Parts: sequence; C-alpha cells; structure tokens
Amino acid sequence: MTAPSRVVVVGAGLAGLMAARELVAAGSDVTIFDKGRGVGGRMATRRIESSVGTAVFDHGAQFFTTRSEEFRSVVDRWIADDVVVEWCRGFAGDDGHPRYIARRGMASLAKHLASGLDVRTSSLAFGLSRRDSKWRVILDDASTYDADAVVLTCPIPQSYSLVANTDVELPNDLIMTDYERTLGVLAVLDRPLLRTTTGSSGGSRTARWSLVECGDRPCTSPHREILSLL
Ligand SMILES: Cc1cc2nc3c(=O)[nH]c(=O)nc-3n(C[C@H](O)[C@H](O)[C@H](O)COP(=O)(O)OP(=O)(O)OC[C@H]3O[C@@H](n4cnc5c(N)ncnc54)[C@H](O)[C@@H]3O)c2cc1C
Repeated sequence: MTAPSRVVVVGAGLAGLMAARELVAAGSDVTIFDKGRGVGGRMATRRIESSVGTAVFDHGAQFFTTRSEEFRSVVDRWIADDVVVEWCRGFAGDDGHPRYIARRGMASLAKHLASGLDVRTSSLAFGLSRRDSKWRVILDDASTYDADAVVLTCPIPQSYSLVANTDVELPNDLIMTDYERTLGVLAVLDRPLLRTTTGSSGGSRTARWSLVECGDRPCTSPHREILSLL
C-alpha cells in the first residue's frame, strides 16, 4: 500500500507523534496540529519551584512497560538515545516486566519524538469535512488545511465530534467508551515517606488511588512524591 501524500495528524501525544513518524518514514508529507502549548498530551511533565529546589512531576503517564518485541526494539532505540531509562521491575517485587521512564520527565520523550516533525501547537482542530477524496481540516483561527488523509488521535469524544458531520461511522463500542475522571495531587515533601516500596494502590467503594514514589527516579530530586487519586 502506498502512503497518502499529504496527511494531517490531530494530536501530538504519543499516538500522534508515533503515527507521524511512521508516515514520514513511509514518504508522506505530515503536519501535526495540537491544541496544547506543547507536545506530549497526557505524557505531561510540570516543574514546580519549592523551598527545597525544583520539583519535576510527571502528572500524566508516569512510566510505561513493553509487552511486545516490536515495542521493545523501539524502546531500545530510545535508551540508546539516552532519552529513556529502566526504572524498576514492579512495585511489590520483581514481576519480570521492566518499567521505563524518560530521564528528563515524560514530556521529554514526546519532545524527542517531535524533533524533525512539522508540529503546530496552539492549533485546535475545530471541524472536518470531506469533498471527493480530499479532507479539509478547519482550525480554531478559521484557517483551513487540505490533506489526502487525516489521523485523529485526540480522545474519543473530541474525535467523535470532529467526524460527526462527515460520512465516517465510528464503531458503537468506541462511541460508548467512557473516561474516568482523575484527580492528581502533586506534593513536594520535605522528608522521605516512611515506606520502602516504589508504588502502591488501594481504594474504597467510591475512590481508587495509586501512589508513585519518585525519590528514586533519575529525573526528580530526592523526596518528591506524586499521589494520583482515581
Ligand atoms: C493521570 C494519568 C496517569 C497515567 N499513567 C500512566 C502510566 O503510568 N503508564 C501508562 O502507560 N499510561 C498512563 N496513562 C495513560 C497515558 O498517559 C495515555 O494512554 C497516553 O499518553 C495517551 O496518548 P495519546 O497520544 O493516545 O493521547 P493524548 O496524550 O491525550 O494526546 C492527544 C492530544 O490531542 C490533543 N487534542 C485533543 N483534541 C484536539 C483538537 N480538537 N485539536 C488539536 N489537538 C487536540 C491534545 O491536546 C493531546 O495533546 C496515564 C494517564 C493519566 C491521565
């Protein structure tokens, strides 16, 4: 199959950046639009100044693992590029699966993947239409962009609203997909927790929580904690 010559990718998170890189490698002319000020989407890093120095928080994805040879070879390249390091192999002992983090915060992996790509940030895809075999993407500043193909990687509700006025039909189970709300608490501690494990989780009938202890991550200073309440 030949790659479409001109492609618009909506979303510069992990999915959009990886898709764009594959398409560029296949010879397509790719432009990525993201409504955010930077790349990464839910792979997000925030720096907060505190009395004990700069705290670096990954407040979206905090780590990832590999479950296939194909992805493992991709991650091996990121390790060779010194962007990603192995962090641990499980939270209550070694479960055999390496957990990886980006050395300078998870958003730095997105920046690495975006390098060399045509990424337009602060650009919200507002509408989508198709005439004959051409797609037209309308941005929130009323500018338009024509393409042979469009890749939507924004969360399903946003993707659904973009295709709502086209002849594209999304599968019902995709439309019915729901997202759980997450409250993230980023706390800079002035001393280590009295715990030895790397992470833990628990919950009640109404809430679930997970705790990722970041003191041993190379991208953070000692005693930094991220508490994610789900
Ligand atoms: C709190 C939290 C913790 C997590 N922890 C982990 C973890 O530990 N390990 C793990 O593997 N995964 C984790 N995840 C999940 C992981 O972050 C996501 O699965 C992954 O980052 C999704 O990538 P994506 O590219 O599909 O989507 P996103 O990262 O959401 O990217 C979509 C992009 O589309 C953009 N966009 C949306 N609408 C538009 C529009 N109309 N026009 C232009 N741009 C648009 C957004 O700005 C965004 O940048 C976590 C998620 C959260 C929220």
